[in-house]
Amino acid sequence: MSTSVPTQACPVCAQRLDAATNLQSREPPEVGDITICINCQTVFIFEEGMKVRRAELHEIPNRLKPIVTRAVRLLRVEYPRYKASRN
Ligand SMILES: [Zn+2]
Repeated sequence: MSTSVPTQACPVCAQRLDAATNLQSREPPEVGDITICINCQTVFIFEEGMKVRRAELHEIPNRLKPIVTRAVRLLRVEYPRYKASRN
């Protein structure tokens, strides 16, 4: 389920970020949660005010690393296809 987050530009690719989808529950994202830019697949952490900053590898809990890796790979393939289908 997608949740609105404060609109901001991805610090890496400038993609407009205004929503997040929780892959593990129906709860909205919280400070400290990991998030991935849909466009550039950079891995971020939500900070105070739900602003994103780039995550260091050691900040990603080991239990989440397989999920994050799979999500990055999936977005890398599927998001360009999705964008192309809308043009
Ligand atoms: Zn980005």
